[in-house]
Amino acid sequence: MNQCQDIQELISGYIDHELSQQKAQRVRLHIESCDNCREIYNDLIAIRKEMGQLQYPECEEAKLDRIMNEPVARTIGIVGWIMLILGLVGFMGWQLFTFFTQPAMPTWAKIGVLLIELGALGLFLSVLRQRLIARKTDKYRNVKL
Ligand SMILES: [Zn+2]
Repeated sequence: MNQCQDIQELISGYIDHELSQQKAQRVRLHIESCDNCREIYNDLIAIRKEMGQLQYPECEEAKLDRIMNEPVARTIGIVGWIMLILGLVGFMGWQLFTFFTQPAMPTWAKIGVLLIELGALGLFLSVLRQRLIARKTDKYRNVKL
């Protein structure tokens, strides 16, 4: 009984090959003759294997997530979106202003262009919204992992 306690304390080290040759042999001999300790040894081996298998497939995906969610990459992405929006809105505003202040332009053409511009803006905003939603759900997915 006392010997079993000694051996059980050494089993973890035995699996990790951390024991001296003498101690490792003592554990090996005991495991071969003692059902109880052999069961503990097998359980530990099974747990190690399971942990190893769980870590493995996550590895590549976790690495990719870290790259995608890296602060610099995120900031550049956000700044890119802001610049794109500002540029687009500014350009469209300027274009609309010069277009609508032309006295020679007929009213139906002005309305047509206005509808096209508003349509483009609407589509752009819907894409932006989808992107933001996708980013949120991505976060949830990461938490689950
Ligand atoms: Zn034992």
